Amino acid sequence: QCKGNYIENYAFYVDEMREDIVREQQIVNHMRHALDEEEFVLYLQPKYSLQDNRICGAEVLVRWAKPEGGMISPGEFIPVFERNGFITKLDYYVWEKTCKLLAGWIAEGKKPSPVSVNISRVSLYNPRLVEAICGLTDRYHIPRELLELELTESAYTTNPKAIKETMERLQKEGFSILMDDFGSGYSSLNVLKDIAVDVLKIDMKFLSDTDQEGRSQNILASVVRMAKWLNLPVIAEGVERREQVDFLHSVGCEYVQGFYFARPMPVSDYEKLVSEKKDELQEKYQKDEIGR
Ligand code: C2E
Ligand code: MG
Ligand code: MG
Ligand code: MG
Repeated sequence: QCKGNYIENYAFYVDEMREDIVREQQIVNHMRHALDEEEFVLYLQPKYSLQDNRICGAEVLVRWAKPEGGMISPGEFIPVFERNGFITKLDYYVWEKTCKLLAGWIAEGKKPSPVSVNISRVSLYNPRLVEAICGLTDRYHIPRELLELELTESAYTTNPKAIKETMERLQKEGFSILMDDFGSGYSSLNVLKDIAVDVLKIDMKFLSDTDQEGRSQNILASVVRMAKWLNLPVIAEGVERREQVDFLHSVGCEYVQGFYFARPMPVSDYEKLVSEKKDELQEKYQKDEIGR
């Protein structure tokens, strides 16, 4: 009986593993082709300031649009690309597309808000990273304060000394460093002590309301206060509900990003949102107030 169970579970496990391997192999087989065919597309998710209820920038999030239709989310292909190194190519591609986008807006006479791009931990180890990013902003004549760089907190754990050096070089070149997923790692405070990042993005798990005692909320409030002492702006990510907005407002968190305000969207939708100068956030607030 027991042995039968074991074999059954084992078979199930192997089946699942086989499925994962097939899926991963498909991703690997298609990735180069996908880059050439421009199947990777940029989505933008607005960031809002709670002080004036306005869009103050956006984060670039990559999507893989399959030619046969459908999207693959980065959660699925980025870990694969990080394992096989292809992520450095995709990252560069996304940064270049972002620079082109900004250059286009500037050429049209717009005054774009800053846009942030993600830098994979793998790209961080590219010894020519700083040159690559500086080269792009130079080539497309992008003021460096318009291209912000998001680095995930957990990247620092592997080789803190090398990463600190790279980050300081980027900052010296005029880029702002946003610490992504702050609080998700095991040494968040250590990182803060060692590296003078420019903005904290608090990991969305601190907004969770699954814990009844409000421990996450207390931590969140304390992080915001600490950031104030350090003179660091804070962005809360993953804001999904009105109550979360109210809470963030009450503890003095100024910047927010999340489905409550806007989902990641195609570039044209973002341009429309910004150019219409409609205060979407204000409208939504009012709708919510009426709905109460
Ligand atoms: P991230 O940089 O922390 O980005 C935030 C993720 O949270 C995005 O997922 C975004 O769609 C999602 N999100 C935003 N608001 C909400 C919300 O209110 N609720 C929930 N549940 N989720 C929300 P996405 O686009 O699937 O990206 C996942 C991760 O993949 C990103 O996390 C980032 O680490 C990575 N990624 C995305 N694009 C790139 C890229 O171009 N290069 C690199 N290296 N990594 C990328
Ligand atoms: Mg990010
Ligand atoms: Mg994040
Ligand atoms: Mg994340």
